[in-house]
Amino acid sequence: MRSATFFLDGAFRRGSAFSKLVLIFAASGGALVAYADARTDPATEPSQAAPKKKVVVLGTGWAGTTFVRNVDSSLYDVQVISPRNYFAFTPLLPSVTCGTVEPRSIVEPIRKIIRKKGGEIKFWEAECFNIDPDNKKVHCRTNTGTNLERNGEFLVDYDYLVIAVGARVNTFNTPGVVQHCHFLKEVEDAQKIRKSVIDSFERAILPDLDEEERKRTLHFVIVGGGPTGVEFAAELHDFISEDLAKLYPTVCNLVKISVIEHGGHILTMFDKRISKFAEEKFRRDGIELRTGYRVVKVSDNTITMEDKLHVESSVSYGMAVWSAGVGARPIILDFMKQIAQGNRRALATDEWLRVRECDGVYAIGDCATMSQRKVMEDILEIFKFADKDNSGTLTVKEINDALEDICIRYPQVELYLKSNQMSNIVDLIKASKGDVRKESVELDIEEFKNALADVDSEVKNLPATAQVAAQQGNYLASCFNRMKHCDKKPEGPLRIRELGRHRFRPFRYKHLGQFAPLGGEQTAAQLPGDWISIGHSSQWLWYSVYASKQVSWRTRALVISDWTRRFIHGRDSSCI
Ligand code: FAD
Ligand code: MG
Repeated sequence: MRSATFFLDGAFRRGSAFSKLVLIFAASGGALVAYADARTDPATEPSQAAPKKKVVVLGTGWAGTTFVRNVDSSLYDVQVISPRNYFAFTPLLPSVTCGTVEPRSIVEPIRKIIRKKGGEIKFWEAECFNIDPDNKKVHCRTNTGTNLERNGEFLVDYDYLVIAVGARVNTFNTPGVVQHCHFLKEVEDAQKIRKSVIDSFERAILPDLDEEERKRTLHFVIVGGGPTGVEFAAELHDFISEDLAKLYPTVCNLVKISVIEHGGHILTMFDKRISKFAEEKFRRDGIELRTGYRVVKVSDNTITMEDKLHVESSVSYGMAVWSAGVGARPIILDFMKQIAQGNRRALATDEWLRVRECDGVYAIGDCATMSQRKVMEDILEIFKFADKDNSGTLTVKEINDALEDICIRYPQVELYLKSNQMSNIVDLIKASKGDVRKESVELDIEEFKNALADVDSEVKNLPATAQVAAQQGNYLASCFNRMKHCDKKPEGPLRIRELGRHRFRPFRYKHLGQFAPLGGEQTAAQLPGDWISIGHSSQWLWYSVYASKQVSWRTRALVISDWTRRFIHGRDSSCI
């Protein structure tokens, strides 16, 4: 449990932060706890003679680190390459911006993680700038400054490549954003924001400023009403009203916080009730919401936006945080061009997280998007697969016999049955063919197509979250750990378009719920099954649902004591 307590040490000093712990333990699928189980078992060590296959992992974020924690490093020669030599606990970044949580509490050195696994894994602090899938090499450049030949550039060979480089902030090429806005993506960003908030107050109380200038300096603008922007706005509001108002009493009445959101509401990825609750709470707190506005230009003191009718307006501001979405990193854009995926938003993989048409290359986390094969693409093959007696028609029994393999390969079928309150395939046939008597029905291909015509509507892109990234890292590591075994004894569903079985079951995302801290110790939680909880009790809801399974009693006691300390001592409002 040492890695778990590392995160907790000093990290959770308030309710929302505490709830996040719970999410993350859940999101990581217990990965923080499970690393010890993934240690080398000497009994499974391969003989000295057989050279280990080289696995190269790019990135030390949620996806890469979860893979590294869980892969059996006695089976492979694992090398990790990342410009960042630590893992960052991103969901707590907004709490770092206001001193609720210390930066050191949300990072874990990658070398520490490697050491705990027995130290066999190698780490290179460098950035990969080119992937060469034909020669199975990655081109890297160290970012530490070096006198090495070739400017610190080096090549690494791989047999398997795990791309987990995450995403970058998306400015949508809006002029002035890079120059004038803060981002909230990395630990350094959060530290810069923290310093900038305090600097704004120090500037606003200087003697020679007029009232307008003081007001401008203390206008904090957040662009983007998603979970990160909303949480930062809530943190900032609490920080100012609970702590800075006491330190800067003469100017605190001039402070304004605004959230600019292109969509009609904030938190649109949540249930409407949560979005409405958040908007009402923000209005009560005096946080200005400008929904339906798109920022088109940012200068050093003005933000220009336009509404849906393209009517422009401007506001002056002192500090702005851009939190309006993520896009592909340049290395991924280049790689996509090389492998004929140039027109995509993220690297496409199949359901086993393999990059299409690239032998031995996998992509996980925010840099990738898993494309689920559609039932309608394969409808003829599915029909033939189920028609065991080659009669050209399907009986209910034939469909039921094939259903398990079909549902594993095409999970949208099961989702469709569930979301339409259908208990089995007969209900689906009834819905398309009218009332039929069980077992007596036979479907031809056209009727089969009609019955399944809408199931692909259940195919959804996975969100760019830590939950998805961690589950993918965990899944891929377990595939690697069982690779040899599954080569001989495949564990996946029967192949629909070819003979035999798939080696592994495809990746299946399990949504564990999401939550949004809204300030004032209020948290909105949305659990699977659209179970909503809003208010002070949400922390305890998360706690009881997840922490009880994932966190030890000792850890829970630590969290409570940290939380209590936060109420007694307040936040750290120094700017260093
Ligand atoms: P990252 O975690 O971003 O890691 C990418 C890694 O790749 C980094 O180590 C980076 O240094 C490295 N890298 C980059 N370029 C290269 C290169 N060229 N070569 C080698 N390595 C490279 N998700 C949730 O589920 N719940 C939350 O509450 C939540 N809150 C969030 C709050 C904030 C402020 C932010 C920014 C994100 C939040 N997220 C949350 C989203 C979550 O952090 C991301 O979805 C997650 O980090 C994605 O994991 P990843 O491993 O794909 O990428
Ligand atoms: Mg038949």
